[in-house]
Amino acid sequence: MHTKSLSELSAALHSGEISSVELTQHYLDRIKTHNDDINAFITICEESALEQARAADTQLQNKTAGKLTGIPLAHKDIFCTEGVRTSCASKMLDNFISPYNATVVDKLNAAGMVTLGKTNMDEFAMGSSNETSFYGPVKNPWDTDRVPGGSSGGSAAAMAARLAPIATGTDTGGSIRQPASLCNLTGLKPTYGRISRYGMIAFASSLDQAGPMAHSAEDAALLLNVMAGFDERDSTSVERDVPDYTDTLNNSLEGLRIGLPKEFFSEGLDPQIAETVNAAIKTYESLGATVKEITLPNSKLAVPTYYVVAPAECSSNLSRMDGVRFGHRCEEPTDLNDLYERSRGEGFGEEVKRRIMIGTYALSAGYYDAYYLKAQKCRRLISEDFKQAFEEVDVIMGPTAPTTAFKLGDKKDDPVAMYLADIYTISTNLAGLPGMSIPAGFVEGLPVGLQLIGNYFDEARLLNVAHRYQQVTDWHQQTPESFK
Ligand code: GLN
Repeated sequence: MHTKSLSELSAALHSGEISSVELTQHYLDRIKTHNDDINAFITICEESALEQARAADTQLQNKTAGKLTGIPLAHKDIFCTEGVRTSCASKMLDNFISPYNATVVDKLNAAGMVTLGKTNMDEFAMGSSNETSFYGPVKNPWDTDRVPGGSSGGSAAAMAARLAPIATGTDTGGSIRQPASLCNLTGLKPTYGRISRYGMIAFASSLDQAGPMAHSAEDAALLLNVMAGFDERDSTSVERDVPDYTDTLNNSLEGLRIGLPKEFFSEGLDPQIAETVNAAIKTYESLGATVKEITLPNSKLAVPTYYVVAPAECSSNLSRMDGVRFGHRCEEPTDLNDLYERSRGEGFGEEVKRRIMIGTYALSAGYYDAYYLKAQKCRRLISEDFKQAFEEVDVIMGPTAPTTAFKLGDKKDDPVAMYLADIYTISTNLAGLPGMSIPAGFVEGLPVGLQLIGNYFDEARLLNVAHRYQQVTDWHQQTPESFK
């Protein structure tokens, strides 16, 4: 049951072959059996899941159910869920029970989906290995000595281990695509503004975007159909029609123009990954696509630019966690300053503190022009590179990550090495463009992702390009031995 696609699950539910309660129980049982090995879930919502499943079964019996009614899913613990702890994997929010739902959660609930639980992540989504979580690291189901990637590492590991048929993630600099690459998943970060950020705990507001983490482009399309759309509660969400993303999945790729940025295939890329990515591109040529080398000359600025912009925004966003209105409060403060200092000092982990310090520095009066303003100018240059590239090509392809899953602890004490794990994904967020990672093969038993980058609001094309590849390959269907 746990290797079926969403369409297959939907058909089984609609025909009465299985009930939503049975399906939900199946996944809850799998979570009970396997979660201790990989630490993918922070909170398991057993009771409420079964309640949602019973309601879904009533709709299925009454023939009022939709395509996704009764299908279970997992939410990254960054999405506010009413009545359920929403921790962002921080001690700061360990006791925070959200009084309301994020728009994404509301929409998926309204579609009849069943929330199995909340997944582990890097604290406040800061990290590329899921080792900064207050609840301990997540392990990669393909090799439990290795990281699943981050920050949506819990959703990725839950998916790879087949503890949920689909999951939500968020991507500020690569946090959907990089763990998708390391865990053999299909992950999509849509255009900035495509999905509401309301109720999604903010890290860097101008970069954060939610998206599906799935086993196939078709499943991702089905979830995006529900997640996408304008929300008056998010002033950066864009008022634009949402197409049915499944309608165009089978379009022909004849004449598709693929751009390969030379900067994505240079030093730092593991040669075996380069080989895997090149083989995937050959498959696209056999499907009728043409390939052309392009240049994104400012891509070397992406990591430094991001590590000014993202910390600056996070230092501002996280100032609300002060032990008064939100979050952990220290014991017996002597005065207000002591309350702030100790509550924040105790509540935040090391990486979060590092970012707050960097961001506060970059935004301070004497340094604003030298760092923040400069970073904004670099950001514009990076966007311009993409704009030029998309005059010549329809989709950009390359590796998602420079390496396969690394060993737990390997980069933990070296922030710069960790920051470079997102070297190919970060520029997409700075430009606000949609990006995807799809399974493209294995190197020494570990998954490798192919990255697809599209023009603004071209999610339908990315999904189509991904789907056609998945029609002729079966990488995306592989499951790690111990989780079959
Ligand atoms: N790894 C990047 C960071 O640490 C990106 C994280 C993300 O996309 N949320 O900031």
